[in-house]
Formats: sequence, structure tokens, C-alpha cells
Amino acid sequence: MKAVGVLALWAALLTVASAQSVTPGRASGSVPSAGSGPVEPGVLPERWMSGGPNCMELPPWQIHEYNPDFYILRESGCIHYEKPFLYLIFGQNAALLEDTGAGNVETAPIVLDLISKWAKRNKRTEPMPLIVVHSHSHGDHTAGDRGFRELANVRFVGATVGELQKAFAIAAWPTDIVPVDLGGRVLDLIPIPGHDVAGIALYDRRTGILLTGDSVYPGRLYVTAAAFPAFVASHRRLVEFTKDKPVAHVLGTHIEQMRTPFLDYPQGTSYQPNEHTLELNRGVLLELDDALSRLNGKPERVVLRDVILSPRPPRP
Ligand SMILES: [Zn+2]
Ligand SMILES: [Zn+2]
Repeated sequence: MKAVGVLALWAALLTVASAQSVTPGRASGSVPSAGSGPVEPGVLPERWMSGGPNCMELPPWQIHEYNPDFYILRESGCIHYEKPFLYLIFGQNAALLEDTGAGNVETAPIVLDLISKWAKRNKRTEPMPLIVVHSHSHGDHTAGDRGFRELANVRFVGATVGELQKAFAIAAWPTDIVPVDLGGRVLDLIPIPGHDVAGIALYDRRTGILLTGDSVYPGRLYVTAAAFPAFVASHRRLVEFTKDKPVAHVLGTHIEQMRTPFLDYPQGTSYQPNEHTLELNRGVLLELDDALSRLNGKPERVVLRDVILSPRPPRP
């Protein structure tokens, strides 16, 4: 690891208009008190909205406050069947958004509104800079990019290896793990090419949450034969990285599994009333690591309890 002058990222940032209408931040009474655990606690919903049965009743986004500085946004399956999860994390000096959504979405106004509400709750008068990054480059995670690209006070990092290396001073891709300092909150950025060349994981030291994108989530983990060695190596690094760290939850960017072990919904399913929880744990990383070792370099479909390794042909 090495230090990165992330504050330097802000040199060119201008002020952001925060004069949007805001509502008082709701009390976080449901979040357990910090206690003596190794990480800051938070709560996850019992169930997420997916996509239906009546789309007229559903908002385009479900916004969940894991704790007052950590938000999870889920896009409605009524907008796009991929219904991805996005993450918005606040430090003292900056916020970070991972991913921008799928299909025809306007993500930026939702995120700016959340930032505005957070700023008001925290009595912050200075504009809050926002870093936009992506778990990887696939279209179901970048569809809302255009809304952020030209915004003042946003540091937009495109989902390419080159842009990631430049923005976060990653000298050796994919083996360097770099800290991203949001001010009193450090995220570790772990390059994990495999599912996609520009795949990254983020580990939030404050909550112990590991964000794994499409590389590990309760569903079908797609990988091409050509990228399989990289996928295996990246997963190994992820297991190694987490060996001596508290991992509260492993959070990916989709849910395709059912609550029933080993079963997944057919591809393209919008309404998933019996879907798996979003959260996985480090045990799932280890189980997948074992399965990858057993394959001995040969990509094959492997159905585990919570994830399904799914080799596929290259994307057209
Ligand atoms: Zn993907
Ligand atoms: Zn995806």
C-alpha cells in the first residue's frame, strides 16, 4: 500500500449548488450503538423492493440508510431488470459514489439530493465534493454517467484501467491496493479484473463492508474463459486482503439468487419476491476460493449455496 494525495483530486473542483429542497434527516435510531465492535455498525433491510408486482406503486429508487454516513441505492426492476445496487459513502472531506445505474435512469439528481440532505443534517456549509467511481465498466453500472460528467464539484473517474490508475495513483495494476481517503474515512481500492478488465473492490475500513461489484454477489458470476485466470487471481487477492480484517458484509451489485439455497431466478427476472439477501460474508469468499482451486484453471459452471460461477462466451 502507499499513500495517495486524494485531496489533490479536488484542486480543480468548483462549488456545487446545494440549494435544493431538503427534508430533515431522519433519526438513525435503528442503527445499533457503536459498542465495542471493531467496526461501525449499520442495518440492512430484511427485504429489498425488486420490480413489482405493480410497477405503478414503486419508486424508481429504493434508498436505504445503512448508517448515517453509508447509503445503499437500489434501482427498481421496473426500470431495468438488472436492478443494480449503488453505494454512496461519506467522509469528512468528500463523498464517494460507486456506480450510476442501468437503463434509462437519471441518477445524478437523486444522489445530489442525498448529498444535500446529508450536508444539512451535518450542518455543513462547505460544498461536499463527490468522487464517482464504478465497480466495473458494464452498461448496467454506468448508464447514469452522463448526468455526472459535467457537474461542478464532481470528480468523475471513468471505468477504465487507465483512468483508475491515474485518479488513484495505482502504479501496478492489478496488484497494487491503494487507500482512498475521504477525510476520516479510508477505503481500500483493490483491483479485481476478471468479470471485467476494469473491475475493482472497495473495502470500507470504518464499517468493515467490502464492495465486490459483479465479481461476488448472490447470483451468477459471469466470466469468460479468456478472463478466467485473472478472475481466479483477483479472487485470491481478495481473500488474502481480507484475511486479517473485519468483514461485516460482502456487498455486490445484483441479487439473482432465491432465498432457497442453490436456486437462482431466470435471467431477466424483474420481480423477485423471494430473493436472497444482498449481504454475503467472508465465508462465501472462502467457499468460492475453494471451488476455484478445485477447477484447476478450467472454467466450469459451479453451483454453490449463495453464488453460481457462470462461465460464458465473450461479450459481442
Ligand atoms: Zn458486469
Ligand atoms: Zn452487472
